[in-house]
Amino acid sequence: MRGMDRILELQELDTASDRLEQRRADLEAGEELSAARKVMEDAEARLGEIRLASDAVASESRRLEQEIASMGAKLAAEEKRMYDGSIVNAKELEALQHAIASLKERRSRSEDALLEQMQRGEDLEARASGADEEVVGARARVEALGGDAQHELEQIAVDLEARRSERGRLATGFEEELLELYEDLRRQKHGVGAAAIVDGVCQACHEQLSAVELDRLKRTDGVKRCEYCRRIVVLV
Ligand SMILES: [Zn+2]
Repeated sequence: MRGMDRILELQELDTASDRLEQRRADLEAGEELSAARKVMEDAEARLGEIRLASDAVASESRRLEQEIASMGAKLAAEEKRMYDGSIVNAKELEALQHAIASLKERRSRSEDALLEQMQRGEDLEARASGADEEVVGARARVEALGGDAQHELEQIAVDLEARRSERGRLATGFEEELLELYEDLRRQKHGVGAAAIVDGVCQACHEQLSAVELDRLKRTDGVKRCEYCRRIVVLV
């Protein structure tokens, strides 16, 4: 049967094309790239939240600073009033002393609050710089993957085209009937229509053929088939 001597060559070529097509489908589905995009978006979202928190801390700090300054000014004025002799009434003096003490206490609380905000601000800044690095890294990875995928897709197109024309040339040496059988088998059996028999073992289904069967195959002139998987086989 014309073509039997080159059927394994044809199978090898088709298997290589199948792999390329699978890789192309994977790349087009872009799972690696969309996973990298997800990582990037998460990192950007984290950075965004940290920046928002950081802005809130900065504005609260400014508010506290103003508050502390204005209480300081008020305190200075009250203290001045206390010692400039303008107050003679004991009750009024007592009220002023009370107001000064209360102002001092409030200022101290605000100062504590400001320190706390400053500490939070520093923590947030450290976290922002870590998150920023993550974003930069994730963006670079998305760009690299996108570029690599595009490059690989172009290469696959070239390789597939080369294999297709090689297959076209090769197929002309096959009898139509053999080619049809081979293609039917490929459709039914996960892309493998022809296999070698090595040391009596079918390389597709890995069954060991009996000595009698091997002998019978050797004497078969037409298409040889594996007695187990029914694929076309070639004794090598
Ligand atoms: Zn088999």
